[in-house]
Amino acid sequence: MSQPYFVIDGLKASIEGKEILKGINLEVKGGEVHAIMGPNGTGKSTLASAIMGHPKYEVTGGSITLDGESILDMEVDERARAGLFLCMQYPSEITGVTNADFLRSAINARREEGDEISLIRFIRQMEEKMKQLEMDPEFMHRYLNEGFSGGEKKRNEILQMAMLEPKIAILDEVDSGLDIDALKIVADGVNSMRSEERGFIIITHYQRLLNYIKPDFVHVMMQGRIVKSGGPELAERLEAEGYDWIKEELGIEDVTVGQEEEEFQVPMNTTPPEFFRK
Ligand code: ADP
Ligand code: MG
Repeated sequence: MSQPYFVIDGLKASIEGKEILKGINLEVKGGEVHAIMGPNGTGKSTLASAIMGHPKYEVTGGSITLDGESILDMEVDERARAGLFLCMQYPSEITGVTNADFLRSAINARREEGDEISLIRFIRQMEEKMKQLEMDPEFMHRYLNEGFSGGEKKRNEILQMAMLEPKIAILDEVDSGLDIDALKIVADGVNSMRSEERGFIIITHYQRLLNYIKPDFVHVMMQGRIVKSGGPELAERLEAEGYDWIKEELGIEDVTVGQEEEEFQVPMNTTPPEFFRK
């Protein structure tokens, strides 16, 4: 394996015709941890979804490349095979598919035909990673995320990441809903995977997680853009002072995106109301 190189250049994306991402630039190399911070509704999860190719999000401009190759024309599964992985903010529950089945299929989907992982080797790996994440072995045979608590779902996402060994791992609010012990376990899981062969994009609302996963770069998102970038000291200032000083610097009040008032339009094919006829 070599050091991955992931580049987002001028990325614009819309949902239901509304532009949410308004030109995102970001470069992530293997070995680096980038934190993306920002208040709610600023486009962070949209960025994660656009990178993974969620069909609801339409990319309308810019490019995303992994090791020089565009990923925008790839299907979701092809992006996963290329080495992208997303720990989701709200993981789905899938009845009828056990954790073990799901992971084994996902791993084999990334390998050449005829080179599938042996069952013994798979189970040994899964047991080892689950132990590291302090997960009860019974979770191996539970249906994917069904009836899992918030914290268990997050640990399970980290388990998937550990098993799939992505080149670029994106963690979306992996800290939300975790108590401090679970947070430390998740952070240890991430830290043990840090290497030159992997880059991380860690999306978080709070600085707390970054006490345990030290970022190399910190970016702040507002209104669908990265409005500020710096080192770990930027996260510390946000912890101490909140986001207001950035809003002041930018001269904005509302940090969110996509909530702008719809322009008033006369509906098509209807008689204009009285006051428009004059
Ligand atoms: P963040 O993760 O920073 O809280 P999101 O990317 O989830 O922000 O949301 C940014 C904006 O994008 C939201 O305020 C909303 O207007 C819009 N948006 C995101 N996802 C959807 C969706 N699935 N359907 C409709 N609007 C959405
Ligand atoms: Mg979000």
